[in-house]
Amino acid sequence: MSTLRLFYALWPSPSLAASLAGWAEQARLTCGGRAMRTETLHLTLAFLGPVDSALADELADELAAATPERGLAPGDVPLERYGVFSRQRILWAGPSETPFGLQQAHDDLWQWLAGYGLTPPTQPFRPHVTLLRNITQAEPPDDAPAPLAWHYDRMVLVASESLTGGSRYRIVAQSRPLGG
Ligand code: ATP
Ligand code: MG
Repeated sequence: MSTLRLFYALWPSPSLAASLAGWAEQARLTCGGRAMRTETLHLTLAFLGPVDSALADELADELAAATPERGLAPGDVPLERYGVFSRQRILWAGPSETPFGLQQAHDDLWQWLAGYGLTPPTQPFRPHVTLLRNITQAEPPDDAPAPLAWHYDRMVLVASESLTGGSRYRIVAQSRPLGG
């Protein structure tokens, strides 16, 4: 049976993504590495890994039809600091503390996914936007640019497809904005 490698994410507006690209350029002066393409920047809410294509279709349909009970409650996540995952050699931007509403969104999503037999992660949720890969200096810059306010009102379901030379993301569904 064929599978799709899936994840749920918050996708920034083009202008927020452009600001984040500026964060990446600034950090690269200190950390080296390779900047992610601006149009691929995102914040992962839940990484599913390989999922049967029949289930993938169902998840996409459910997300597109999401009601306020099922969908994502709108919220805010401030992007205010740099951080590194040194083992993965990643530099990221993220909040200083995980906003309550975002943690709730993550937990609700996984509770719902568990109903499909998917297993929630054992690791705590660390919301971040990956900006640089293969960094050569594992200390983040001392100073970040001015904080970015991110108001989100929808999430997307993304297929991560392996191509020679890297992965490509394809948005397969998004929730309807729920106001707020
Ligand atoms: P590649 O792994 O081919 O270099 P990628 O990391 O961009 O490319 P994926 O591995 O498919 O693509 O990951 C998609 C998203 O899910 C990324 O934001 C990634 O950081 C996140 N992710 C991947 N694996 C996990 C995991 N085990 N737990 C949490 N998030 C993950
Ligand atoms: Mg990966």
